[in-house]
Formats: sequence, C-alpha cells, structure tokens
Amino acid sequence: MAKSVECNACGNVFSSEEAKCPYCGAVNANKETLQQPNPVYQQAPQQPNPVYQQAPQPQVVYVQQPQLNVVGKRGPFDKTTAIILCILLGWLGGHKFYEGKTGAGILYLFTCGLFFIGVVIDLLTLLGKPSKYYL
Ligand SMILES: [Zn+2]
Repeated sequence: MAKSVECNACGNVFSSEEAKCPYCGAVNANKETLQQPNPVYQQAPQQPNPVYQQAPQPQVVYVQQPQLNVVGKRGPFDKTTAIILCILLGWLGGHKFYEGKTGAGILYLFTCGLFFIGVVIDLLTLLGKPSKYYL
C-alpha cells in the first residue's frame, strides 16, 4: 500500500511511491521501496570461446607402391612347351598342370582330356597364343 508522505521541501502530500515530489520536484526521501524493479543481473560479458586452433596435421601422403605384379596374371608360359604337353599328355591334363590349373588337370586326368574335346580346344587355343603367354 502506498502511503502518503509529506514533501520535505514544500510540504505537499503525495504518494510515497513517487520518486520526486510532483509539486516541487524535490527528491522523495521517504520513498518506499515497494516496487523495486528486479535487479537486472547483468550478465558478465561472455568470454569468447577460446578458439582451439587446430595444429595443422601433417598430411600423410600414402605413396602408392607401384604394383609390380598384375593381379591375376600368371606366367609367362612357354607356348611350345604347352603345345607339346597338350599333344602328348593332354589326355592326362599335362598342359593344365603346366599352367597351374590343378583342378582342370585332375578333371582331364579322369575324363581323358574331356574326352579329347578339351584337349583339341586347348590345342587350338594354345596355337593362337603368343610364344610367351600369361594367364
Ligand atoms: Zn515538494
């Protein structure tokens, strides 16, 4: 409740909530602190976030090793040797074993070179190959 105060300067009566006398402008010495505004907690100026300067990481350069061997290539195989093996031992898979195709060699071994059909096809294939061929 606002009380009435008497101005110290002019003697007029006015509300105690007035900061100054509305008549003479003197400062209201009896001002009640009823409506103190909430103190504004001034926020401390935020410290700028420390910038974590990232140290420049040395770029790791992965030097690709030059591939010396082409993947999947085997050889060189000698054309003449393979043809001789194919003719003489083709029905036993000789040229297949020579080329390292053990599985096919065993198959030829048990099927007489795929009933010689495989041998003939392989012979024709070998004839078309260069003298040193890769697989
Ligand atoms: Zn006054």
